[in-house]
Amino acid sequence: MTEQTNANMGFLLFDENPLTVAKNILPPWKILVVDDDDQVQAVTRMVLRHVQFRERSFKLISACSGREAQKILQQEPDLALALVDVVMETKTAGLDLVRHIREDLKNRSIRLIMRTGQPGHAPEQSVVIDYEIDAYMAKTDISAQKLVTTIIASLRAFEYISEIKALNAELEARVAMRTAELEKLAMLDALTGAGNRRHLDQRFDAEIAICRRDERCLSIVMFDLDHFKRVNDTWGHPAGDIVLQKVVLVAKDLLRPSDFLARIGGEEFVMLLPGACLDSAKQIAERIRLSIAAQNIQIGSESLQVTASFGIANVTLEMSLENAIVRADAALYRAKNGGRNQIVVDEVE
Ligand code: GH3
Ligand code: MG
Ligand code: MG
Repeated sequence: MTEQTNANMGFLLFDENPLTVAKNILPPWKILVVDDDDQVQAVTRMVLRHVQFRERSFKLISACSGREAQKILQQEPDLALALVDVVMETKTAGLDLVRHIREDLKNRSIRLIMRTGQPGHAPEQSVVIDYEIDAYMAKTDISAQKLVTTIIASLRAFEYISEIKALNAELEARVAMRTAELEKLAMLDALTGAGNRRHLDQRFDAEIAICRRDERCLSIVMFDLDHFKRVNDTWGHPAGDIVLQKVVLVAKDLLRPSDFLARIGGEEFVMLLPGACLDSAKQIAERIRLSIAAQNIQIGSESLQVTASFGIANVTLEMSLENAIVRADAALYRAKNGGRNQIVVDEVE
C-alpha cells in the first residue's frame, strides 16, 4: 500500500466515524457574562473567542441584568464562572446577584469576577471583604490579557473545587453504602443469616401495624430443634452449626417473601406469618416440620437427621412481642412434652 493510499484511507475512516472524533471533544467552560452594556458584552466575546483552557473552549452566555442572570443560573447549574457588572438595573444589582448566588442558591463553586465602570459606587476593599468573589476589576484598566489571566486562574480554582466536590460525593456515597450494609448485618444472625432478635422486634412492630390497618391475621410460630444437645455431643459443635444453617435454609425455602424468620436463641427460632390465621399457620409449620425431618444432613461422609417441635399462637392487635412469644413458647413446651416432632396450637383466644 502506498503512502498516498494510507493517507486517503485515513481520511475515509475519519470521515466515516464522526462520532469517534466527537467523543474526544471536551465540553466548553460555561461562562456567564452579566452586563447591561452591549459593547462590553461584544468585547468580552471577542477577547475570549479563541481562548482555551485544558483543551476546553469557552461558551459565553449573556445576561443584561441581574434579574436575567438569576433566571439563567437556574437553567444552567453547571456554570463555571460569571463576570458580573456592578451597576445595572439598580446601583447594586451586581452585588445583589453575588449575594443571591452564594446565599440563596448556596452555590459556592461558581467563580465570580466583578467588573465595574463606576468603582466609586462599590469600593474594591469593602466589596472583596463583604462578598465572596474571586476578583474585582475596574473596566477602565482591564486589558485583554489581564481578563484572560484572571479568568484562567478562576477556572483553575473552579476545577479544584469541582474535584473536591466529586470526591466528597463519592466518599459520601461509599459511606452510605457501607452504613446500609452494616445496618443490614447488624440485623442478621451471623451463623444462619436468619434475622436476629433486634430485627424481630422491628419486624413485629411493622407487621402488627399493617395487620391492624388491613384487619388481617398475624401468626407467630416458635420452633426448637429436638434433642439438639445430643447432635452436638455426638457429632461435634461444628456439625451442630451445619444443622442450624440447613434448618434455616429449609424453613426459608418454604416461607413466602412476606414471612419472616429469626433465630432468637441457640436452636430456637421464631417465624412471623402476616396474613396467616391459625389454620394456615399450622399448614405452613407442618410443611416445615416435615421438610426438616426429611433432610439427610451431610456431615462429611455421613448424614444425620433432626426434628423440631413447634408452638403456634395468634397475635392479637394489642399483644406485645413478649406476650406473643410467651404464648407460642407455652404451646411449644406442650409439643416437647407431647413427644416432640409435632405442632401444638395455642388454644387461648
Ligand atoms: P429439647 O428437645 O428439649 O429442645 O432438647 P435440646 O437438647 O435441643 O435442648 P437444650 O436446651 O438442652 O440444648 C440446646 C443445645 O443447643 C445446647 C447448646 O450447646 C446447643 N447450641 C446452642 N447454640 C448453638 C450453636 O450456635 N451451635 C451449636 N452447634 N449448638 C448450639
Ligand atoms: Mg432444643
Ligand atoms: Mg432450646
